[in-house]
Amino acid sequence: MDVRPQLYVGGEWLTSGSGGEFKTTDPATGEVLGVVPEAGRAEVDTAVEAARAALDDPAWRDMPPSDRAKLLWRIAELIDEYADELAEMETRDQGQLIGVARGINVPGTAEQFRYFAGWVTKIEGTTAPLSIPGTFHYTLREPVGVCALITPWNFPLMIAAFKLAPALACGNSVIIKPAEQTPLTTYRLAQICEQAGVPAGVVNFLTGGPEVGRMLTNHPGVDKVSFTGSTSVGREIIAASAGNLKRVTLELGGKAPSIVTYDADIDAAVGGNLVGSFFNSGQVCAAYSRLYVDRRRVDEFVTKVSAGVGEMRLGPGIEPESTLGPVVSEHELQRIDGLVRNAVTDGAEVVTGGGRAGGALSGGNFFEPTVLTNVTHGMEIATKEIFGPVMPVIAYDDPEELASHANDTEYGLAASVWTKDLATAHRMAAQIKAGSVYVNLPPILDPAAAWGGYKASGWGKEMGHYAIDAYTQVKAVWVGV
Ligand code: NAD
Repeated sequence: MDVRPQLYVGGEWLTSGSGGEFKTTDPATGEVLGVVPEAGRAEVDTAVEAARAALDDPAWRDMPPSDRAKLLWRIAELIDEYADELAEMETRDQGQLIGVARGINVPGTAEQFRYFAGWVTKIEGTTAPLSIPGTFHYTLREPVGVCALITPWNFPLMIAAFKLAPALACGNSVIIKPAEQTPLTTYRLAQICEQAGVPAGVVNFLTGGPEVGRMLTNHPGVDKVSFTGSTSVGREIIAASAGNLKRVTLELGGKAPSIVTYDADIDAAVGGNLVGSFFNSGQVCAAYSRLYVDRRRVDEFVTKVSAGVGEMRLGPGIEPESTLGPVVSEHELQRIDGLVRNAVTDGAEVVTGGGRAGGALSGGNFFEPTVLTNVTHGMEIATKEIFGPVMPVIAYDDPEELASHANDTEYGLAASVWTKDLATAHRMAAQIKAGSVYVNLPPILDPAAAWGGYKASGWGKEMGHYAIDAYTQVKAVWVGV
């Protein structure tokens, strides 16, 4: 694969950026997939100017909602048309299994555009029953303006769609900046937007690393930042956005607890947690990364889960026989390895896995699927985000302590409870401070379901009607009658 992404600014494709260039590689092999331009100050400023101008361009500002809906639908159709190419590109650039790219990521991306295409003609204001005689009051929902959309590397295409689809549905203009590790499919998405007929300047696309992100979040011409990534960068973004008081939506890190109660259907819990912990090699913000299992069932659970892990086939995502792919970079692999080593020093026991895969896989970023037991609440591995294929199992004795343990990290993105008892399910769902609680399910998403974290896992929500709130502002109009 030899892709030469270009920057897309004001409807023009630019082959180079004033920030230089960088390479993007295949995590399974180290092969260079493309040389990518790094945007600099000049392109950031031009992209912001173009996006501002697009807000006043009648071709966009006055486009009838039914036409804007058709445009979003057209983007979805083109994603379907290029699905095979997009899936292979995502697998090569990110490492994920081709089945996941084909079956979840790419169709999930198209579904975001279809779902928000439906919203375009339903973005309504309200009238308020004022008590002041001789007045009439109504509200309009207007676009926020220029939105910087900054995305991470774990689900590059789909996460770009979580932001781009509602931003366009609401009539905003955008500058998208994908993660430097995985720029390729977002580049194709920008091309698809042009092909679908999105007016010039409405969608701008810049590649580059943190510095490009900083230039956007500091920029006085940007009205809103929608960011998905780490909590530490989320904090920087809040500070950088203070200058012109940008609207900020943050989807940040997580440390989802998964609670397996005494009465749980253990086989269902084993199957669901294998997905919850190892899907996309654990590189999921809502990954189940600390399992609280009733001590009376823990041996059975660990035996069955380890058998499941033993059946996993670690290998390049592009090979259909692989059931677990690499992690995105050497840097990430070393970080995960460090966490597992520290856990062992802290007293955890490695049941299976525990380190980098050798042999034929030693050339890629392959970390063995790892199950850890003897983990106790409070260890680093039980409090820090892992973002890798590691399942730490903590045996618990007292169900009364579960909610306080589950809530005892700075994160609050997701949580899961495995139980046959309805009362336990609802009680835990009420007590856990997390944006999404899954009962007897691995973490899943739907464009109609609100997504977003509590506490240090983020600000605001994506998806559902909440996304319409996030990408509009409300104007109150008062009329003397
Ligand atoms: P990251 O925070 O390092 O980078 C994310 C993006 O921000 C990249 O595009 C990067 O170039 C850019 N960036 C980095 N520093 C910046 C700065 N100072 N200002 C502006 N932009 C900057 O995150 P990552 O390593 O790419 O992704 C992994 C993290 O993302 C994990 O913590 C994971 O939990 C989180 N995540 C959260 C969700 C969610 O929905 N809550 C979804 C996926 C990933």
